[in-house]
Amino acid sequence: MLVLGIESSCDESAIGIVKDGRDVLFAPIYSQINLHKKFGGIVPENASRAHLEKFHSLVSDSINFISQNSIKMDYISVTVKPGLVGSLLVGYNTALAIAHFLKIPLLPVHHLEAHFSAISLSGLELSYPSLGLLVSGGNTSLFILHGPGNLEKIGDTLDDAAGEALDKAASLLGFEYPGGPAIEKAALQFLDSTKISAMGMDFHTFLPDILKETSTNDLRFSFSGIKTALYYALKKKRLPSPAAAYLFQEKLVEHISRNVQRALKKTQLKTFIAAGGVLANTVLRNSLSNLCKSMGVDFQTPEKKYCTDNGPMVAAAGYMYAKNNIFPKQNFVTSDNSFEFREFRS
Ligand code: AMP
Ligand code: MG
Repeated sequence: MLVLGIESSCDESAIGIVKDGRDVLFAPIYSQINLHKKFGGIVPENASRAHLEKFHSLVSDSINFISQNSIKMDYISVTVKPGLVGSLLVGYNTALAIAHFLKIPLLPVHHLEAHFSAISLSGLELSYPSLGLLVSGGNTSLFILHGPGNLEKIGDTLDDAAGEALDKAASLLGFEYPGGPAIEKAALQFLDSTKISAMGMDFHTFLPDILKETSTNDLRFSFSGIKTALYYALKKKRLPSPAAAYLFQEKLVEHISRNVQRALKKTQLKTFIAAGGVLANTVLRNSLSNLCKSMGVDFQTPEKKYCTDNGPMVAAAGYMYAKNNIFPKQNFVTSDNSFEFREFRS
């Protein structure tokens, strides 16, 4: 089965042509990072306009690829929620036009489920029930994955998403957008230059705990505390940027890992899938992998290049919907992130 997936929910204009939810045949992508850098974050109006400009060449390259290789698409899938509405509209209308042109069905896809589906691009299959963690620029949530199109949220952030916190922290540190990769790089440089690893640093002096210790059942995330602590650490204690980046990343990873451990204990699930842009971070990947090892849990995460927004993950989700006879009838785009897709099951 060949699926063409379209992604435009935020600041990546992307298409993916994927065979059987696994083999990526073509994956053109245009990232708007340079466009948004000077503003320190995404300006929605600029993002929509850039999608409009870039999808012309992405679509014509994809149509050329299809005709040159004499292949026939079975479905087209497109992210319809959640995301920036202006950006989603560009991808949705593009997908609608291609679906009419190629005379194939259109599958509306939930962006968060597409992030989880990206594990199929590594040859894995989503298994149910499992625990899911989504950490990106817009979301930091824990889910129980009951089945395709059927995800139950069990934990969410009280304030920023983890990626958003990294982006804002990077801005305090004077690093460029996007902040996650910049902080990871600075943290590595800090370790390389000082060779101190974690020893001798009193984290609490610089960055106090994020949340007052709550009940061990509490699965809520919060990143505003370390962000404020970082602000004062930089201002008052003249902490050098690489050391501050290192400490901020440590705290963030520790907080995410703590909630995952709680969720695994609470649900007793034996498969854990972590996805979203922040999973491109090696320290977080290692922390979650070690945690799962110690708890006898199977840890799955997409390849780094398929953690941030991309076209193949949307095609992979479309493949999974089609294979399971889920044909959501949603014909509109929305910023709402609820999972009411199960109501549309046919
Ligand atoms: P997404 O919303 O899934 O496209 O992910 C984008 C977010 O992931 C942004 O907030 C980035 O700062 C963050 N991100 C990307 N790469 C890394 C990384 N290596 N470490 C931490 N965060 C990252
Ligand atoms: Mg995303």
